Amino acid sequence: MSEIRKHYFLEDYCIVAADRGKRPSDFSSSPEVQNATSCVFCAGKEDKTPPAQAVYKNGQVLRDSKENLIREWQVRCIPNLYPALSPGGIDAPYASGYGFHEVIIETPRHDRRLTNFTAEEMDLLMEAYRDRVMHYWAKPGIKFVSLFKNWGKQAGASLEHTHSQLIALPLIPPSLKKELDVIHAQDDCPYCRIVRLESSNARSLYENAHFIAFAPYCSQVPFEIWFLPKSHVGHLGAMSDEILHSLGAAIRHVLSRLEKVLASPAYNYMFFQLLQEDSYHLNLRLQPVTSKMAGFEKNTDIFINTMPPEKAAEYLNNGISEQMVH
Ligand SMILES: [Zn+2]
Ligand SMILES: [Zn+2]
Repeated sequence: MSEIRKHYFLEDYCIVAADRGKRPSDFSSSPEVQNATSCVFCAGKEDKTPPAQAVYKNGQVLRDSKENLIREWQVRCIPNLYPALSPGGIDAPYASGYGFHEVIIETPRHDRRLTNFTAEEMDLLMEAYRDRVMHYWAKPGIKFVSLFKNWGKQAGASLEHTHSQLIALPLIPPSLKKELDVIHAQDDCPYCRIVRLESSNARSLYENAHFIAFAPYCSQVPFEIWFLPKSHVGHLGAMSDEILHSLGAAIRHVLSRLEKVLASPAYNYMFFQLLQEDSYHLNLRLQPVTSKMAGFEKNTDIFINTMPPEKAAEYLNNGISEQMVH
């Protein structure tokens, strides 16, 4: 039996086609092979990357100079060596591919991943996210800052050392514009409504002081997870330290469960936020990479998801790993 589900408030659809034969292990991707020797993101290899634009160290935010590369850092932000966009042609932003592309190296240690970060490491990463997003959003001509993480080769990470990326754009993505039009036509914030709807039901995964996490009703892919601030906040820059740390705790907690149930899957997470719009409600979406987008999806923008979100939430909430399912 399958079901066509509509997005909470957009004209977007997905097909939930429960494949009863499928277990969580059918959705896991192969584990990472850790190889630190040639990694340029590791501590001690600072001279192998462009100089850092921001270095977090002992409560300070510093900057590399050519003569002085900062060592013993905690988080290091460097320009992407192969940028999708680059500063320079602000006068003709489209023709010159104007923008910024930064890599946020989340830890100096190759053997770390978000699921074994301490609470303090996670707090610092969230603060760095906020700082860097606001830094680029303040640049002339920048209309949107895309902040995302690719974890694992299948998710598009070319280096396995845990990192996030930020691309600052001279335009608002069309999908967000479309979403905004719909939001503007409503009486109240649809995301605030989603918070009320998904706080306690079969899709709920986690709640703390400021955030909830859940498997969205219209999950495009198996084990998709959304994080929403419980209060109406438009972007990371509007978040207090307390709210930010609450977000970090939610990500760490939910990722740990995902790692247990899917045996360390590759995943992407993406921040959806807008600085110039009070009506927008920040949301973070996490999608494990379990299959490739195929012709049907490219033809219709409709995703076929073989793991109903209610079932995914049950697996995640019970911590059922592949060994325990028969
Ligand atoms: Zn490394
Ligand atoms: Zn809201």
